[in-house]
Amino acid sequence: MDFQYWHPAVEKMPRDRLESLQLEKLKAEVGYALKTPFYTSRLAAAGIHSADDIKTLDDLRRIPFTTKHDLREGFPWGFLAIPRAEVVRLHASSGTTGMPTTIYFSRDDIKRWSGFVARCIYGTGCTKEDVFQNMITYGLFTGGLGFHAGGEEVGMLVIPSGAGNTFRQFRLMQDFGTTVVHATPSFLLHVEDRMREAGVKREHISLKRAFAGAEPYSEDTRRRIEGLLHIDVYNSYGLSEMNGPGVAFECQCKNGLHVWEDGYIAEIIDPDTLEPVADGETGELVLTVLCREATPILRYRTRDLTGFYTEACPCGRTHRRLRRITGRSDDMLIINGVNIFPSQIEEVIMGIKEVGNNYLIVVEKYGALDRLTVKTEVGPEIFMDDSRPLNALKERIRATLQASISINPKVELHEGGSLPVSEGKAVRVQDTRPRDV
Ligand code: AMP
Ligand code: ZN
Repeated sequence: MDFQYWHPAVEKMPRDRLESLQLEKLKAEVGYALKTPFYTSRLAAAGIHSADDIKTLDDLRRIPFTTKHDLREGFPWGFLAIPRAEVVRLHASSGTTGMPTTIYFSRDDIKRWSGFVARCIYGTGCTKEDVFQNMITYGLFTGGLGFHAGGEEVGMLVIPSGAGNTFRQFRLMQDFGTTVVHATPSFLLHVEDRMREAGVKREHISLKRAFAGAEPYSEDTRRRIEGLLHIDVYNSYGLSEMNGPGVAFECQCKNGLHVWEDGYIAEIIDPDTLEPVADGETGELVLTVLCREATPILRYRTRDLTGFYTEACPCGRTHRRLRRITGRSDDMLIINGVNIFPSQIEEVIMGIKEVGNNYLIVVEKYGALDRLTVKTEVGPEIFMDDSRPLNALKERIRATLQASISINPKVELHEGGSLPVSEGKAVRVQDTRPRDV
């Protein structure tokens, strides 16, 4: 196979040189961190007062972990390392309305980030001849603008189509000869369903590749999308705390995601003991950003469960590969690519006084997409046989949830005392989606 490298010298850099580069960048990043209110006190408590206190890569382990909770506590400016006037953009984790974890970028941060995304895209075989339709949400979510900039950096023709509206997506594909798309895996499965409905035949479109990420999916799902659409599907991993897409990506071998180790330091820890796992074992991924000056984030507990492949990749890249993410070490749900904590739903429904005491969150597959149903009991002042106030309440719950979690749920109302009550710890979430990862 003819492999394509965006930065061959960096992508195939010998490990010892790559590690020296990481050390140099880590020191710089600790220097930025010491300009933020949050890390100034956090690092001082760990005996780190200047970048020179980091002498080897092992010193990374002296730095305490950073959690999503810390990011929220630091909102809005606690993690900012540069003057506000030097910030050119901000992004936030999907589905986080009301619980912001905001990341700021300088102009150079954006350039570096686009460079990593370009490296991922180019490494799958794309060139400036390609037409790239970015079928993912633009906005605070990083997937839209992140891939957009990476695609332009490669020189492809980028169509910022955004998510949804499948029929318009087909129109664009046919009008401009789209060769590559970016979407969630569930949306790609849904595209195939809709193509049949719309009478669009495979030979009407020129699609060759897709980048699929933002949510976990299995090897079977990848093969299924590849078979249905006759394309190559590449797994794309990222998170807003680490810029967004461009953290780890599959090369043409499609056997694991290379983490760009000149931009990030990846560790795998046991989520209970917080100690590193043995090489190749599964654990929680911890990431340190090495390519951002505006918002340094050190040893971030991603909560994503994965492990390293131990053998080298045939493509010749020296950056280690992660296995598919198999799940999370917390209760975060990913619904059609949007991150939601059950506590966010609870907060909204329990704030509505007509809602009773018990509720249940159901997540299921509805066709290729995910569907969220929120079942709540109603308080004693609501009569189940009077449909007008009942429908009004249902609509109010739905609209309030949609406004706060950016997902349109189905709402079901139940009589007080009728939803199942478990004997031990309350079971509030029923996730019936097949877990074939
Ligand atoms: P966000 O910060 O909104 O971009 O969400 C990031 C989270 O989405 C990650 O921490 C993962 O849980 C999930 N995610 C992103 N890409 C993938 C992927 N390729 N496979 C599995 N989960 C993913
Ligand atoms: Zn490779």
